[in-house]
Amino acid sequence: MRRREIIVGNWKMNGLVESALDLAREIRQGLKEREDKRLLCEVVICPPATALYAVNQNMGGFSSLKLGAQDMSQHPNGAYTGEVAGLMLRDVGCRYVILGHSERRQLHGETDDRVAAKVSAAFRDGLVPIVCLGETLEERQQGRTFDVVRRQLDVVLEELKEPRNRQQLVVAYEPVWAIGTGLNATPEQAQEVHGFLRTHLNTHLGSDIGQRIRIIYGGSMKPSNAASLLLQEDVDGGLIGGASLRAVDFLGIIDALPN
Ligand code: PEP
Repeated sequence: MRRREIIVGNWKMNGLVESALDLAREIRQGLKEREDKRLLCEVVICPPATALYAVNQNMGGFSSLKLGAQDMSQHPNGAYTGEVAGLMLRDVGCRYVILGHSERRQLHGETDDRVAAKVSAAFRDGLVPIVCLGETLEERQQGRTFDVVRRQLDVVLEELKEPRNRQQLVVAYEPVWAIGTGLNATPEQAQEVHGFLRTHLNTHLGSDIGQRIRIIYGGSMKPSNAASLLLQEDVDGGLIGGASLRAVDFLGIIDALPN
C-alpha cells in the first residue's frame, strides 16, 4: 500500500527568530518550485519553541509546509513551570509534535509511560504525534533491537483506543547510534525494523489501520543516502536533524523521494 510520505525537519535547539524565518522562507520557496513533490509528501518543520509564532505568521498561507513542535507537556495547563501545553502549540500554528525523541529520553529522563501520556495528550489537544523509538548501539549488539522497539511502541498503543487516532499516529524509527553521528542505518537495516514494526501494528490494530500508519526513518539522513532509504517498502518518510538546518540539504532529501 502506498502511504503519503512525510518529511520532518527537527531543528532542535538551533537558531534565533531571524534565522528561523530565513530558513523557513528558503524551504517554502523551494517547495513552491517542486509541485510534483508537494503532491507526493507532507513537509513539516519543527523550529525551536521560541520561533514557532513568528514562523507561523510568515507562512503566507502556504499550506504545503506544516509546523510542528519538538516536545509538549502531557498536562493541559497549570502549575508546570517551563512546560508548554499542546493547546499553546496549536495556538501558534502547530499541527504536529515530536514526542519521545532519544535526546529527551536520554538527557531529560523521559520514560516510556510519560511518552505514552504525551501521545494521548497530543491527540486530546488536536496535534498529530510523531513518536520516536529506537535502540542504542549496545542494545543492537545484544540482539535486543526488536524487543526495545516493541516495548516502546506497545506502551503508546495501549493509550490509543480511537481508530482515528491510531491511524493518524506517525512512528519514527530512530536508531540512537545513528542520530547526529553521520552513521546511518543501511536501507536493509532500516527496512528490517520498519517491516517488524509494520507487522506488529498489523497484528495489534488490524491491517486496515496498521497499513495506514506512517513509519519514518531518522538518523543521519542526508541527500546522498535518502533515496535508497526512502525506496524501502516500509519507510514512509524521514525525520531529519542536522540536514534540516540547511534548506539545500532538506530540499535535497525531498528531491530524493521516489516518484
Ligand atoms: C534527529 O535528531 O531526530 C535526527 C535524526 O538527527 P540527525 O539527522 O542529525 O541524525
